Amino acid sequence: MIVVKFGGTSVADADAIRRAVDIVRQRLDREPIVVVSALAGATNALLAIAEQASRGQLIGAVRAVEALRERHLAQATALLDDDDDGRELCAELSATFDELAHLAEALSVLGDLSPRSKDAIASIGERLSSQLVVAAMRKMGVDAEHVDARDVMITDDQYCRAEPQPEAIAEAARDLVLPLVRRDRVPVLGGFIGATKEGVTTTLGRGGSDYSAALLGAALGAEAIEIWTDVDGMLTADPRVVKGARLIEQIRFDEASELASFGAKVLHPSTIAPAVERGIPVWIFNSRNPGGSGTRITHEAPRRAVSAIASRSGIVLLQLRTPRMLLTHGFLRRFFEIFERHGVSVDVVATSEVSVSVTIDEGEDLEGLLIDLRELGDISIARDRGVLAVVGSGIGDGGEAMGRALAALAGVRIHLLSLSAAGINLSVVLDASETAPAMIKLHDAFFGEGAKR
Ligand code: ADP
Ligand code: ASP
Ligand code: MG
Repeated sequence: MIVVKFGGTSVADADAIRRAVDIVRQRLDREPIVVVSALAGATNALLAIAEQASRGQLIGAVRAVEALRERHLAQATALLDDDDDGRELCAELSATFDELAHLAEALSVLGDLSPRSKDAIASIGERLSSQLVVAAMRKMGVDAEHVDARDVMITDDQYCRAEPQPEAIAEAARDLVLPLVRRDRVPVLGGFIGATKEGVTTTLGRGGSDYSAALLGAALGAEAIEIWTDVDGMLTADPRVVKGARLIEQIRFDEASELASFGAKVLHPSTIAPAVERGIPVWIFNSRNPGGSGTRITHEAPRRAVSAIASRSGIVLLQLRTPRMLLTHGFLRRFFEIFERHGVSVDVVATSEVSVSVTIDEGEDLEGLLIDLRELGDISIARDRGVLAVVGSGIGDGGEAMGRALAALAGVRIHLLSLSAAGINLSVVLDASETAPAMIKLHDAFFGEGAKR
């Protein structure tokens, strides 16, 4: 049994969906379970509808609902023709769009957008795409069956970034998904979406379909989890920044996890954990190049001095200075407790005797946090920062990789620098505008024409 997940560009339109169905068809003997994202751009469009409606701009929101309806119905017709099955599918999709239009109307009356309503609307993308893919599979002769992900992906009620409940998921997957596989049918679920045990719709956070695939794979003890996307695999840098980024054929779980957490969008950062727990290899493949070798993520991959470079912008750097830290104990505990109390997660940390610097994501609510932190000392905040991560086994081993990384960063203003305890991640915080040029320099130093590898 394997889990095969298709991202938004891999189900963007009728042609992409046909390619995805072909990929599944070639894997029927491995008992595939299929997880799909929303059509490329659909989640963004849905969230924009929710924002617009809740600001009272109902006419604009309804127009956007109709545009999205047209897009889905056009793909449905292209896939199924205008026969009975095609008409039935269009009617089903249309009913979901009617529901969306009603939700938009309700939001415009309320004039407010709660995280719970946001999830109700965002979930519609995967509900639609999974129905579309099931119909396409059947049309192309694959015995597919739709499973509502909300019956399987049981989560808590932290809307917009719900926490999956592995035991409940395993039980539901055994009850609802496994029997289909045993009857040689192909279960198809929407990624990203789930529900509380009371049945209220939730989502796992943006990009969360990868996580759904890994959770399902772990719940059912799959042999492999395949993530099908629009690049050949995990690359040595973000290909949107570094033109010469190269394919990494094998990478260790810990390194892939660092890269995902530090901005390699090709994998949702939570994807690795469920796979590691069960030792299930994760593959990344390109649905436009299905013959490619892809990237294999496992425990056994070879160690390299540097595997790849990732970056993330939208970072806020907070620095606390206080002489009270000098020679005292328990200070850092008090400092971090404040973050815990406000539910703000900290990424990179560096401390000295009298100061501590941390990064957090932009968009976190800072007001209350800052009031409490000011009780401890002088706080400065710098927005518009980015973080670069150089990931590889040679970074902390005293070899020359660290020197080479620092030499490549000569002349770049570094605000914070941190080496992870496992010695595989050198993170540097820079001005956001510096992250792309610095990534290019680092990539050139480790993977460029003249670089010794
Ligand atoms: P999907 O919709 O299939 O989930 P995403 O857009 O979420 O796809 O992720 C794939 C994208 O991740 C690629 O198109 C690429 O631009 C970006 N990316 C960033 N860093 C990396 C990296 N190191 N390796 C591969 N892709 C990366
Ligand atoms: N459709 C969701 C998003 O755009 C989830 C995903 O694609 O993984 O965030
Ligand atoms: Mg993604």
